[in-house]
Amino acid sequence: MNCEKVGALLRQLRAERGMTQQQVADKLMVSDKAVSKWERGLGCPDISIINEISALFGVDTESILSGELCAGERNGGNMKKLAFYVCPECGNILTSSSGGDISCCGRKLTALKADVQDEAHGVTVEPVEDEYYVTFAHEMTKQHYIMFAALVSMDRMNFVRLYPEQDPAFRISRIGGGGTLYYYCSEHGLKNIKI
Ligand SMILES: [Zn+2]
Ligand SMILES: [Zn+2]
Repeated sequence: MNCEKVGALLRQLRAERGMTQQQVADKLMVSDKAVSKWERGLGCPDISIINEISALFGVDTESILSGELCAGERNGGNMKKLAFYVCPECGNILTSSSGGDISCCGRKLTALKADVQDEAHGVTVEPVEDEYYVTFAHEMTKQHYIMFAALVSMDRMNFVRLYPEQDPAFRISRIGGGGTLYYYCSEHGLKNIKI
């Protein structure tokens, strides 16, 4: 994510809708300081809130992530280039669909490489109505847990943040009937499976 571009887009979308920073902050359940920080390009929104921003402004997630409307058309109309980053200092999770320099806490982050060979985490995916029910046969201790999962399709992403001590299970919307499920283990890194 290029925080300056993302921030400029957020400011533009907010202005077009005649909303104040406070109103946006209230809808997203963040502080108005956070909104102000994003708009000034001093920090990117955490990935866990991208879905809400997308819904609030009616703009697809890829455009928000790239900081450009119609970004999909410009870079081929897919999220195949989506990369994930985790800051080792603060645990912030960021993504980019267009590469570029991603940094957090004063250090440059490198994109996580997704490993497709994974027996160890016991992931199962079961369709339930219009969602998938995803479970992991995996511990959820502070030292070793599934930290996030994201279902990525051609033009959008649904993101779930998980925390130690919770059940290693969640429901996620079946966007577009499938896609790639990414999940991140605090010890073993990023994995993905096609569903
Ligand atoms: Zn950080
Ligand atoms: Zn693990």
